[in-house]
Amino acid sequence: MARWIDEVAAIPAAPPQQQTVMVSAGHSSTDPGAVAHGCVEADIAVALRDLISDALAAQGIKHATDGRGDENLPLGQAVKLAAQADIAVEIHCNAAASSQASGVETLSHESDYPLAGALCATVADVLGIPNRGAKPENSGQHHRLAFVSDGGGIILETFFLTSKRDLASYLAGRRSLADELARVIASAARQPGGKAAS
Ligand SMILES: [Zn+2]
Repeated sequence: MARWIDEVAAIPAAPPQQQTVMVSAGHSSTDPGAVAHGCVEADIAVALRDLISDALAAQGIKHATDGRGDENLPLGQAVKLAAQADIAVEIHCNAAASSQASGVETLSHESDYPLAGALCATVADVLGIPNRGAKPENSGQHHRLAFVSDGGGIILETFFLTSKRDLASYLAGRRSLADELARVIASAARQPGGKAAS
């Protein structure tokens, strides 16, 4: 089931939320994604999704998710939720044959590059990993680009699971990372605009 988080902290000093938000975990229990260094991409995606959801609620932003804990909706349902939201972000990890590949990147429509670039800069800054930047949807390793094509969302390839250094930075910094990513999403959600306006 989709989860709608409507009970959020009141932040009187902040401008009102003007755009709807959805956060999704990539992959599922039947589609684990990348596996490296004893970690499964789908598990990391779910954990980071939940941390970001909690941080968004604390920052006063109502939003939808594709589940909680072990729940992770199949892509088709996540895409429908994403299409209804002005801002939609799906969490993934990158993977490469070379253990040297490192850093954060996003895959999205060009119109989403401002927010996508801000998400990349935030991950690079908090985790201290390279910023590979906002890229078009056809430049990644994943087939799950329906989230971009049909959902109009942003795929966040948070770090390389195949890089021991990236993974260690993530495990040490994930709570601050979730707080800072939520801050970027919250700031975008308080701006006017969104799909209806564009
Ligand atoms: Zn993935």
